[in-house]
Amino acid sequence: MNQETISLWDASAEERPIETEFKPDRHVDVAIVGGGFTGLSTALHCCENGMEAQVIEARQIGFGGSGRNCGLVNAALWLPPQDVRKQLGTVYGPRFIEQFGKGPEYVFHLIEKHQMRCEVTRSGTIHAAHSPSGYEELEGRAAEWKRLGEPVDLIGREEVSELIGTDVFFGGLLDHRAGTINPMGYCRGLARAAHGAGATISTGVTATELRKQGDGWLVNTDKGAITANKVVLGTNAYTDKLWPDLKKVFTMIHYFQLATKPLGEEASHILPGKQGLWDTGQIMFNIRRDAFNRLLVGSMGQVVGSTDKGLSHYWAKKRIRKIFPTLGEMEFETSWDGQIAMTPDHLPRIHELDNGLFTAIGYNGRGITTGTLFGKAFADLLAGMDKADLPLPVSPMKTVASAPVFKKLYQSAFVANQIIKSV
Ligand SMILES: Cc1cc2nc3c(=O)[nH]c(=O)nc-3n(C[C@H](O)[C@H](O)[C@H](O)COP(=O)(O)OP(=O)(O)OC[C@H]3O[C@@H](n4cnc5c(N)ncnc54)[C@H](O)[C@@H]3O)c2cc1C
Repeated sequence: MNQETISLWDASAEERPIETEFKPDRHVDVAIVGGGFTGLSTALHCCENGMEAQVIEARQIGFGGSGRNCGLVNAALWLPPQDVRKQLGTVYGPRFIEQFGKGPEYVFHLIEKHQMRCEVTRSGTIHAAHSPSGYEELEGRAAEWKRLGEPVDLIGREEVSELIGTDVFFGGLLDHRAGTINPMGYCRGLARAAHGAGATISTGVTATELRKQGDGWLVNTDKGAITANKVVLGTNAYTDKLWPDLKKVFTMIHYFQLATKPLGEEASHILPGKQGLWDTGQIMFNIRRDAFNRLLVGSMGQVVGSTDKGLSHYWAKKRIRKIFPTLGEMEFETSWDGQIAMTPDHLPRIHELDNGLFTAIGYNGRGITTGTLFGKAFADLLAGMDKADLPLPVSPMKTVASAPVFKKLYQSAFVANQIIKSV
């Protein structure tokens, strides 16, 4: 299959893609649609639980958000823990915060266990205050994490300047649980581990229809059909018309990245500890370095223009010049964007679309730990765990009626943001 290069990570990951031939007319315990973190973690853990699993991926492993993201392995959600608890209540709230607070530890454990080559750093991530009010917000988050006994430090302006190599931020939250990876390396590593555990992983195969058959499911694809006792959809923001109403439960937004060519000594003051960073701005901004000393910057929206010409190119140059004025001229090597599924309350969802057909969706831009843990939870559920023990309640699908309007509004706001910050 001819594959397009979808991101820097696609080109730079040391792990190679793994795939096995799709064989129609077979029966499996679980059919999984989507070859990202959710689908592959489901496959790995299902096989470890003694089930036979078939992953069906329309394009290539990591084609969705999993192979395009910033690689920040963060704990829990964007929402502060106190808001998660308020929204999820006294049973699911504390359970979710506990389990997902330990999310990075579990991801790093899998990486270690399966020797995944994905450029791991475990020196934390920094949530940087872009304004004094951003810093106040971080104070609230820090206090709550501290109360829960988690290793998170609120750091002042001076210390954050040293950690990041610039004085433009007003302070930050350093989360010692977190780290960075090459996300495509991790995704392919999950595929290799799942394959090693017995999963069949087929790429270039699109699931086109799901039909109930007896106690199980018929999964039609463009390469023939299989049957399965259970089906898990790990299609998230890349959900197509396979289960038409599923596209309506989130608002799709884009997020983009530009990466410089590898930099030399002149960049050694930038994030010397190799933490990944995102800021408190409403239209979020992120910075990190990769293992080859490329500097990556990104924000919400799509790449406008190309890597070496056009709006996003000027935006990235201007942002880097403002934050790291001593860096001088730099060339960009590549740029890309991807899709994110946002929910109105910023919480992910677990839906049972029909008997034995499950999905987890709406990760709101935090999917490395979330997809990994939901995959494990699905595998435990299919092996007999009570639904009530899932990290989230199984909720009915709810159409976000305003999603098409908001999608357009966000798109315009994100372009405007690039224009304003480029001049
Ligand atoms: C630019 C960007 C930056 C991000 N940064 C971070 C970050 O730093 N940290 C973090 O934790 N998260 C981040 N995220 C979010 C994270 O990447 C996603 O939440 C996560 O990848 C979702 O994983 P998934 O497996 O659920 O879905 P995806 O990885 O999106 O996979 C869905 C797959 O389903 C396939 N598919 C869809 N329909 C069909 C069909 N009918 N048949 C077969 N296959 C089908 C698609 O081809 C796709 O490969 C970012 C996202 C983006 C886009």
